[in-house]
Amino acid sequence: MKIICIGRNYSDHAKEMNSPIPEEPMFFMKPDTALLRGMNFYYPDFTTDLHHEVELVVKICKVGKHIDLKNAPNYYNEIGVGIDFTARDLQRKCKEKGHPWEKAKAFDNSAVLSTQFIQKEKLDLNDINFSLIKNNDIVQAGNSKDMLFSIDQLISYVSKFLTLKTGDLLYTGTPHGVGSVKIGDKLTGFIGENQLFSIRIK
Ligand code: MG
Repeated sequence: MKIICIGRNYSDHAKEMNSPIPEEPMFFMKPDTALLRGMNFYYPDFTTDLHHEVELVVKICKVGKHIDLKNAPNYYNEIGVGIDFTARDLQRKCKEKGHPWEKAKAFDNSAVLSTQFIQKEKLDLNDINFSLIKNNDIVQAGNSKDMLFSIDQLISYVSKFLTLKTGDLLYTGTPHGVGSVKIGDKLTGFIGENQLFSIRIK
């Protein structure tokens, strides 16, 4: 199983990062050891600026390569929500040096995933509201209609380079509002009104 993450898929997030809006999807990977479906996330000692990025997560249900845009809907049935945890301080240094991002993005438990998924038939894929609550505040709220590249476009694009396999996860990018977390914070992820994960930073 692999975890594919899309960067800068919402223009308001690209803006807050002072990053250009991409002309084609950009992606990076996390290993399976990054997956966290438990209740507790332990703050790593290599960062002092850990950021949440809440994202819709698509579960791939079929093996595919060079998937046509029109066939992309056949490759996923379920959508969840997760966090692409990012060690922003390390990422900044990697970017400055032109180095890969992995140590800032791919560390253990950096891919929080909801325990439940929602069948795509139950959602309007062009109008999925999702959000992240930190303690009692809504810190990020996004809608799939604001994606620069749709789920289908992302699947088609990524599959030009990588064979997608059943069980692979596609993190589809974060809207604006990324920010730091600290020990003791509780993070709760939603699609619409449905709470799909809740974790505590330890
Ligand atoms: Mg992200």
